[in-house]
Amino acid sequence: THRKKVAGAVGFNVRNGNFCIVRSKTTLLATGDAVRLWPNASGLPFNTWQSPFNNGAGHAMAFRAGASLANMELTVNTLVPKGFSAAGLNAFMGMGAYLVNSLGERYMQKVHPMAEGAPRYLLALGTYREMKGGRGPCYVDSRHLPKEAMHYLTTRLLPVDKDTFMIFCKQKGLNLEKDLLEIDISETQIAGITGSVSGLVIDEEGKTTVDRLYAAGACTVPSYALSGALATGYTVGSEAAKVALTISDAGGYNKEDVEKEFRAVYAPVNRKEGLPCQRFENKLRQIMADYVGDIKTEKGLKTGLEKLKALEEKRDEVKAENFHELMRVAEFRDLLLIGELVAKAALERKESRMGSAHIRGDYPATDDEHFHGSMILKKGRANTIQVTFEPANKTAQ
Ligand SMILES: Cc1cc2nc3c(=O)[nH]c(=O)nc-3n(C[C@H](O)[C@H](O)[C@H](O)COP(=O)(O)OP(=O)(O)OC[C@H]3O[C@@H](n4cnc5c(N)ncnc54)[C@H](O)[C@@H]3O)c2cc1C
Repeated sequence: THRKKVAGAVGFNVRNGNFCIVRSKTTLLATGDAVRLWPNASGLPFNTWQSPFNNGAGHAMAFRAGASLANMELTVNTLVPKGFSAAGLNAFMGMGAYLVNSLGERYMQKVHPMAEGAPRYLLALGTYREMKGGRGPCYVDSRHLPKEAMHYLTTRLLPVDKDTFMIFCKQKGLNLEKDLLEIDISETQIAGITGSVSGLVIDEEGKTTVDRLYAAGACTVPSYALSGALATGYTVGSEAAKVALTISDAGGYNKEDVEKEFRAVYAPVNRKEGLPCQRFENKLRQIMADYVGDIKTEKGLKTGLEKLKALEEKRDEVKAENFHELMRVAEFRDLLLIGELVAKAALERKESRMGSAHIRGDYPATDDEHFHGSMILKKGRANTIQVTFEPANKTAQ
């Protein structure tokens, strides 16, 4: 930033390590959602339902530049086959499969009049309640589906959602015409999919709360899946280009800031000794799962924040062997910040909301009187995280 306006971006080439400074009249972030913050069903962070390369870089860059983020605590998770990070449960539900508990009972009617046709976050909530209520494991039951529906499901829908889906079933010895498919709740993300309300706050033109900084798609609050990404991409891109034409010069930048960033970015690759970044990232996921996971409590969130801070203090011990690993270190830095933002906002939202998106064990009910609105996160003095609550009718979307 220069004089409180975004003046461009810095980056490095992940192949040859070249540092670059991009000066721009307007800057647009479109870095998608944020994943890799929690363990996933496959146990492999890069074998996930979503794009594992989206690690909240846009959210983090914008936050550091002073932009506001909203509702980072309202995460999204989904149902997947146990041990397999695959999309596909929508396909089962769409074709008329049931969700059943270990007693063989369908349970979604208790949650929503459309039963298995309910929104995805409610399918996760219903399943979660069965599991915690001692009626797990839970399963998809597709045994009653007509032959043609089953054929369409197994040859057209499931292999498109994840091309190894039927190989997984085969290796497990599962015949979906005869067997139940065990499921799990997984793939937690700061989402830009249907129904999510978290991300960068933008106005109708796609401008963030920082001058000359725009954002579009899944990293913003009003993202709404593919159609939202396309619509905001088009409108915000056009607007940012139009505004750029009215600005004569990108403006200067603070050389000291850039040099500081340069030194910080390359430090891990210049370090003689240190620990691999993967160890730090695994630790981060463990902290998030243990303290900022399914059921959150005040004590747990505070403990989580302390542990995240301790991890942050050890960041100087990360070593990168090459520029590829240096990229992972940069990603870890962003993930760590996003983790803190989630925990801070979750601490302030003293209620439970949006199904499995935010469950506070110490505040299990939804409290519309006090929390029908957005938790706004912004950088405070001395790089602190400032959280304020904004009632629903005031949040810029
Ligand atoms: C398995 C799956 C199924 C889906 N099915 C549907 C569906 O049926 N219907 C629907 O409407 N939506 C669906 N979605 C959601 C939809 O794909 C997303 O909402 C949409 O792609 C978001 O678009 P985007 O451009 O904002 O982000 P993305 O498409 O995620 O693009 C973000 C880009 O930014 C890049 N990037 C991230 N960080 C950096 C960085 N630091 N530097 C450089 N580049 C970076 C990434 O590599 C990526 O190319 C699905 C998503 C998944 C994962």
